[in-house]
Amino acid sequence: HEKSIVAEFDKALENGEFCMYLQPQLDSRGALLGAEALVRWNHPKRGLLYPDSFIGILEKTGIIYKLDNFIWEKAAEKIKEWNAAGYEDYHISVNISAKDFYYLDLYKVLTDIVRRYGIAPKHLNLEITETVIMSDVKMHMEILDRLQKFGFQIEIDDFGSGYSSLNMLKDICSDVLKIDREFLRETENAVRSRDILEEIIRLSNRMNMTVITEGVETREQVDMLTDMGCRVFQGYYFSKPIPIHEFEDKYNVVQVN
Ligand code: C2E
Ligand code: CA
Ligand code: CA
Repeated sequence: HEKSIVAEFDKALENGEFCMYLQPQLDSRGALLGAEALVRWNHPKRGLLYPDSFIGILEKTGIIYKLDNFIWEKAAEKIKEWNAAGYEDYHISVNISAKDFYYLDLYKVLTDIVRRYGIAPKHLNLEITETVIMSDVKMHMEILDRLQKFGFQIEIDDFGSGYSSLNMLKDICSDVLKIDREFLRETENAVRSRDILEEIIRLSNRMNMTVITEGVETREQVDMLTDMGCRVFQGYYFSKPIPIHEFEDKYNVVQVN
């Protein structure tokens, strides 16, 4: 399986088999704020493949940087289109892998993309998982710091799923904290999970970071999180990740042709 993924990858990218899905990020009343770009592989034989079945393999070999680069371009292109159609408030958040830091001059690639498409860096948000940052704090911080000074919004993804999260917050002035959806899972430690959630939200607000809770699936969760001070949500309760046209229809973002 791994070998065939790697062997097929370049051709698949060339043939346009990869596409960008969007999952909305909204306020508690369902007003659109932006979206996260999530990749799907339209495999000619195996049908629609989800990232969990190929991202890990592409990461292991390093070629994930080609796919990430492709998605960043797609996201920038979309932002440009939306801007041209008069929608100038929405951002798209893209994922950045650990390997991207090694295979690419991230600063150059990302600043180059926003220049080429003529979009504001604050509309292309960069999601980096806490685990990636922690794997080489000094190197990652230096690059993220420069990207942030350029105007990108830095989002810490899957916050609370790895190690040393609190220590990291001291050094990284991220703009957005995305709380790992594990905290919403019903467990026998539900009360403790809820207490931690509430305190993370309080802390983020105090440090002027926007908090996004991922994986909200019910109205009750949205209400509970709203009471706790969370203002931005992403999850199946509002929408699954969907193809671009579906997204634009659903949220009335006019398409320019
Ligand atoms: P992620 O960055 O944490 O993305 C959120 C994942 O949670 C998505 O899975 C999304 O479909 C899922 N999700 C959102 N709301 C809910 C919910 O309410 N309930 C549940 N159970 N799940 C929800 P997806 O699209 O399968 O992506 C999985 C992971 O693959 C992503 O996790 C991300 O780490 C990675 N990934 C996706 N696209 C890319 C990409 O273009 N580049 C890189 N490097 N990684 C990507
Ligand atoms: Ca993400
Ligand atoms: Ca996440």
